Amino acid sequence: MIDRFPWVKWLVLWLCVVLPPAMGQTIPSPEAVLGFQPGADFRVARWEQIVDYFYKVGSLSDRVRVETIGRTTEGHPYILAVIAAPRVLDDLETYKAIQRKISHPNELEPGEKDEFLDQAKTVVLITCSIHSNEIGASQMALELLYELATRYEERVLEILDNVILLLVPSANPDGIDKEIDWYEQSLGKPWEGQGMPWLYQKYCGHDNNRDWFMLTQKETQILTRVLYQEWYPCVLYDIHQMGNQGSRFFVPPFYDPINPNVDPLIHESLKMIGGHMATDLAAAGKTGVITNAIFDNWWQGGNRTTPYRHNIIGILTEAASPRFASPLFQPREELSGLERGLPRYTPQVNYAAPWEGGWWRPRDVVEYEKIAVYSLLTLAARYRDQLNRNYLSLGEKAIQLGNEDPPFAYLIPPDQQDFPTAFHMVRILQEGGVQVSLTEKPFTVDGNEYPAGTYVIFAAQPYRNYILDLLEPQYYPDRPLYPGGPAEPPYDVAGWTLSMQMGVNAIPVEAPFTVPAQPLDSVSLPAGRIQGEGSLLISPNTSNNDFIVLNRAWKQGIPAFTLQAEWAAPDRKYPVGSLVYAPAPGHQDGLEGWIKELGLAVRRIPADPGRFPDQLRLKSLKQPRAALYQPWTANVDEGWTRFVLEQFEFDYTTVHNADLRAGGLRRRFDAVILPDVTLQALLNGRDAALTAPEYTGGLGEEGITRLQEFVEQGGSLLCLDSSTAFAIRFFDLPVRNVLEGVGRDKFYCPGSILRINLDPTRPLAYGMRTRAAAYFVHSQAFEIANTGSRNEVGVKIGPPAIPATYDKTLTLLSGWIRGEELIQGQAAVVSVTYGQGQVILYGFRVQHRAQPHGTFRLLFNGLLSSGQNGGK
Ligand SMILES: [Zn+2]
Repeated sequence: MIDRFPWVKWLVLWLCVVLPPAMGQTIPSPEAVLGFQPGADFRVARWEQIVDYFYKVGSLSDRVRVETIGRTTEGHPYILAVIAAPRVLDDLETYKAIQRKISHPNELEPGEKDEFLDQAKTVVLITCSIHSNEIGASQMALELLYELATRYEERVLEILDNVILLLVPSANPDGIDKEIDWYEQSLGKPWEGQGMPWLYQKYCGHDNNRDWFMLTQKETQILTRVLYQEWYPCVLYDIHQMGNQGSRFFVPPFYDPINPNVDPLIHESLKMIGGHMATDLAAAGKTGVITNAIFDNWWQGGNRTTPYRHNIIGILTEAASPRFASPLFQPREELSGLERGLPRYTPQVNYAAPWEGGWWRPRDVVEYEKIAVYSLLTLAARYRDQLNRNYLSLGEKAIQLGNEDPPFAYLIPPDQQDFPTAFHMVRILQEGGVQVSLTEKPFTVDGNEYPAGTYVIFAAQPYRNYILDLLEPQYYPDRPLYPGGPAEPPYDVAGWTLSMQMGVNAIPVEAPFTVPAQPLDSVSLPAGRIQGEGSLLISPNTSNNDFIVLNRAWKQGIPAFTLQAEWAAPDRKYPVGSLVYAPAPGHQDGLEGWIKELGLAVRRIPADPGRFPDQLRLKSLKQPRAALYQPWTANVDEGWTRFVLEQFEFDYTTVHNADLRAGGLRRRFDAVILPDVTLQALLNGRDAALTAPEYTGGLGEEGITRLQEFVEQGGSLLCLDSSTAFAIRFFDLPVRNVLEGVGRDKFYCPGSILRINLDPTRPLAYGMRTRAAAYFVHSQAFEIANTGSRNEVGVKIGPPAIPATYDKTLTLLSGWIRGEELIQGQAAVVSVTYGQGQVILYGFRVQHRAQPHGTFRLLFNGLLSSGQNGGK
């Protein structure tokens, strides 16, 4: 039935509901509460003010319900406002159930489809300011909430009647106040509005929008639950800001290339919504709107891109940034085009009305974004039926393809090198909405036998594209900037295959098959096993969880040892590098409890008190005193390194430039880790025009000398990726990076997975197989120049040891590489003795974004080896 007089209904509602509170308490505008309009120059609402305002509106409006849906990494409330017509809000559980059904058509009963499509609203999730320095959207959200809660204009009523809006005013609440504190002390200074010296998300800063399949951070986990366990929205809109050198506002569609695991219907829907937004912006007289540029649709891992593989239309807009909350004046002649999509700053089909320069204010960002939001919501209201039908049909198509086209499933058997890590992958797949099943009996598929306890990921499920996109290799197209020219950089990385990164054996099934397997509602790590009798415990040390046990053992004072020669137990051989614990009787239960909790398989060995069996060749392991260098340049890799160390319960001390310059390092530390930092940033840090005086500068000459002394006296310097350039240069190492100075016409590898070969008899590769997958992001490859020498001040250097090399033939496993012959067979990881100590060069990202669990061990083993130079 067509509602011909919707205003009557609303008038009645207004009289019944709004009028009485209006006499008591009306909903105040953001301006009335804050004392300034959202987006006013130099003014920003803090997180507490945003939360208070949202809850106030929630308590006064029957169109708004506000919930705290979790606590952030640093303990702040993470809030979500559900906005819809009052009668919809009264029945949210019904609407959630409908969303579950239309996103999972396999769960529909016959005849339910049209009924549910008829009842369904368009569920739209909007996330603001995940990047906390892109502050505009969090401020815009206040005004949007107020208008949707109080206005009676047709546009608002149409939205409320047809849409359920899930509004997240900040997807990184921890960062907002940090940014405001830093901004306020910068006002009037040369560095006004410049970036902070630290990360706005505790561990990953800007990479908080690179975490959407790995799900390492609390904020990602909270919203992932909303997306794939609770609300199943049809459209997601993630609001960002970009640089300010040219265009003012990016809306979809995106730039090439596209990913084969994103359905064409998603791409077309992006054009529909982006076109609607661009039209509404133009009608409102806004210029500088660009489409089909900069941001491509290849990569997944972002807030808008991972949902594509879940049949959700993910929208991104990017507004030009003022200097945080300070306005910016930009003359026309200073504006420029872009490498991708706007070669010259002139009108063209994807940039019809160039912005002509002038003042660019935070309020401009708020206004552009608000127009885009209303445009999306209006379209979502009017095309409710079409959007939901398409959403449902994408789920149906995925199930059909999973039944007809290979791969039909992925199998993850329990006999893995590192089963707890394989389980970790299963768990994050499940959190990402994937249905996981478990077999209870052995079975045969494709001619191979698999044991009971094998996890089966059937492809015939609504999120098939997600499964394939995480477990298949990526083949990024070779894209030159122009024919025969240098490589055109992708927006983010080119390859990410999760099973490769995590060192997990996930086997695709190529022929149709059936196997009895139990679908799991939740997954839990099977308890570890302890065999045999005795007071010693031996672990083959092939799981990353071994490091958690080892770190806990050290903290409890339980003696730990590493096996120096292979030892044969009745049932298996324990390789060099296996871990042996000798707990006092009071510690045995605790230690065995951790082993069970962490899913390890361990054997007890009888031993006389104070004496080890003769056949065990053991070396005592000391806990390394580790320092992690944190530059004042908000280094994301430092944050990820810190996160990974904490996840595996390593103790460490954060050190800054002043600590390294002060010296006396050897008394305090056994190892210093330099995360991926460029030589320039290490030496000089940030410029005085860009930051407060106490955060300028880098290591300087003093820091270099102190680090040289530290290693000469027995310390270990662990250099990750680009910081290897520092060590090669200042430690006279007989090592050369073969990629130094090589242009992107000759070599290019922007985030891909490469095969490396390892020597597991070397301490750095203990517990690894002879092959692994390495994450390479504009990384390094080393040629060893000679076998060892003394430098001019008499320090003995080398010879280098090479625990890992890039494969000689099959280098690329997933992603994109140009010029692979330049690195084939070259060293990927090198350790070089320097005086009493050692320098370890990690040529690739062993811990990139906390994803490559398969190579974390190289870093952990580096720390362990450094503890042996005389730690506590
Ligand atoms: Zn952003």
